[in-house]
Amino acid sequence: MKLDAALQAGEVALVGAGPGAASLLTLAAAKLIGDCDAIVYDALVSADVMTMADKTAEKILAGKRGGRASASQHDICETLVRLAQSGKRIVRLKGGDPFVFGRGGEEVRALAMAGIRFRIIPGITSGIAAPAMAGIPVTDRSVNATLAFLTGHEASEKSRMDWQALARAFPVLVFYMGARNLPEIAKRLLDAGLAKQTPLAIIRNATLANEQTTVATLSEAADGSVTARSPSIVIIGDVVTNRICWKD
Ligand code: SAH
Repeated sequence: MKLDAALQAGEVALVGAGPGAASLLTLAAAKLIGDCDAIVYDALVSADVMTMADKTAEKILAGKRGGRASASQHDICETLVRLAQSGKRIVRLKGGDPFVFGRGGEEVRALAMAGIRFRIIPGITSGIAAPAMAGIPVTDRSVNATLAFLTGHEASEKSRMDWQALARAFPVLVFYMGARNLPEIAKRLLDAGLAKQTPLAIIRNATLANEQTTVATLSEAADGSVTARSPSIVIIGDVVTNRICWKD
């Protein structure tokens, strides 16, 4: 299949918008965004990416962001199915990669069950792009042969994660949605045996004009002397020490 072929009437493309900068869109994403009837986009999709959108396309904000009232996942799936059934050519635009902590799976399941034609366009995920912008390689031969991507929402009391196993198996941990629970995440990792001096980086608004990087230690994150604001990627591990700043 040609990923960048023109959309057919009633077809949905689930498209990764990348971390923010429009220049990081894939060619297929740019083409489909620029030629469709409706774009159903998440709050995390940047204004920069939205400037690439077809001027005449209907723009529907579907996203939800930690704590804010917004459409439920069920409503979003219903909207996609309804638009497709009305014969529109639809782009479902999601930040980063649609299948990385993006509920893309639930949406394509709903489309498949309704018999709607769809395609999936991967995007650059923020968990890799954000460290790169900060000059941090997510793998480094001298540090890690494994790499974990995690959601920070799992740090609450009802955590299903085995923190000791994580700390043992993964020298590098990349947290999505980790800003609010950062102290909790850091405390759990300290309890699991990681050293107080373990370095971490918080990268906010990666690839955008207001990008910001903060480097600290696990104990500083645990005691609240450094904090994070959403949207941020938090990367923990010795790769942070190998950081090479390549921007001002
Ligand atoms: N599907 C997305 C992730 C969605 S979860 C992806 O692949 O990137 C939302 C989380 O993504 C945010 O809480 C934040 O942790 C991260 N994120 C998305 N864009 C970001 C950006 N430009 N800079 C830093 N973190 C970002």
